[in-house]
Amino acid sequence: MPKFAFFHGKIVPFDEAKVSVMTHALNYGTGCFEGIRAYWNAEDEQLYAFRLLPHYQRLLESCKIMMIDLPYTAQQMSDLTVELLRKESNREDTYIRPLAYKSSEVIGVRLNNLQDDFTIFATPLGRYLEKEEGADVCISSWRRLDDNAIPPRAKVTGSYANAAFSKTEALLNGYDEAIVLDESGHISEGSAENLFIVRQGKLITPPPSSNILEGVTRATVLQLAREDLGLEVVERTIDRTELYVADEAFLCGTGVQVAAIASVDRRPVGAGKLGPVVTRIRDLYFDVVRGKVAKYASWCTPVYAK
Ligand code: PMP
Repeated sequence: MPKFAFFHGKIVPFDEAKVSVMTHALNYGTGCFEGIRAYWNAEDEQLYAFRLLPHYQRLLESCKIMMIDLPYTAQQMSDLTVELLRKESNREDTYIRPLAYKSSEVIGVRLNNLQDDFTIFATPLGRYLEKEEGADVCISSWRRLDDNAIPPRAKVTGSYANAAFSKTEALLNGYDEAIVLDESGHISEGSAENLFIVRQGKLITPPPSSNILEGVTRATVLQLAREDLGLEVVERTIDRTELYVADEAFLCGTGVQVAAIASVDRRPVGAGKLGPVVTRIRDLYFDVVRGKVAKYASWCTPVYAK
């Protein structure tokens, strides 16, 4: 459990960060959030928060779509996060959850003319998906939300009812994770992570117009693949059966990190185990997030004074 939270404009003991049952966002799903990881590097005795600014820039975009006005810049929210992490003083991998929400205690569905608030908490977290080296996934019978329903580009709390439907179906049927198709029948993403396939050495991932969340990890993987691993990368729509015949496939996201897909709908992907391309991406990703790659040091914000 977290020891503190940023709440009502200041850091307070976690038990004091409570909202009313009438809170608009609790009743109607009118909030936007982020998920950020901070990685403990034992050698450096340092906690590195990964890519704070892109996460807070996306939060501001989500807020723009949801008409939530925050009195903070992305840089100010990053600074608040570091301050909170310092108070938490964890010496282990930590998950950070910023949440911007409609805080009015009022009945009535709308976005305008309501009060907004912002909170952050942070809690230790290991793996999100146990089988990161080879997850068994299924294609969900639930469809991904559409930009004209609840825009997936915005990380809206209410839209996670959709994610929960697909994830629950997968778990109850004995799978580790669900892949969702969009309304056109193309692959969108996992329940809470983006998806890549590898075919003939080429990395392929669905474009934003496939109703994905524009993931920070996705952008990170695209950059590492192009600049450091010399891989050809293509953003285009992907059919369901392309996933069946892919050489390798993986999920990526802040929570799931980079997780290989072993099978889809009980069909093994490639050799059905961690493949060479995904292995290279994972190894580099884990070095980068722990602050071990000088070129990307600016992505890793040290929390503690040297
Ligand atoms: N898609 C969805 C639906 C998600 O919830 C997440 C997790 N935030 C992602 C993709 C991956 O995004 P990121 O890499 O920014 O964590």
